[in-house]
Amino acid sequence: MVGRASVDESGALTLALGECVLANGATLVLSDLPEWRRETVEAVGVAWRENAVTLRRRGEDIRIRTYFDVVATRELCPCGMLGRDGARCACTEPMLDRWEARCRELVRALEAGGR
Ligand SMILES: [Zn+2]
Repeated sequence: MVGRASVDESGALTLALGECVLANGATLVLSDLPEWRRETVEAVGVAWRENAVTLRRRGEDIRIRTYFDVVATRELCPCGMLGRDGARCACTEPMLDRWEARCRELVRALEAGGR
């Protein structure tokens, strides 16, 4: 998501740019937010807030500027049927409560970006 830096056998530095850099000047969409790992969402939040991605390789930082917006999407419930015409949601109240808590946690992680 944020990228990777590596050095090959000849000593040449290779950068694998992640979506945060590739989204420069555009909008990065985190679809199905509850499916994302918290650490990944935090890393996106850091890049979004700092307008940069920092890749570390053998103690050396490589900073790449990136400017992007973030949009996160989610289903209304874990089974995905809530709010759909003619569909019946199979989720229980505890499931919906956990779903909402998970979504709130990830939005906070995105906004805080590791703070
Ligand atoms: Zn449901």
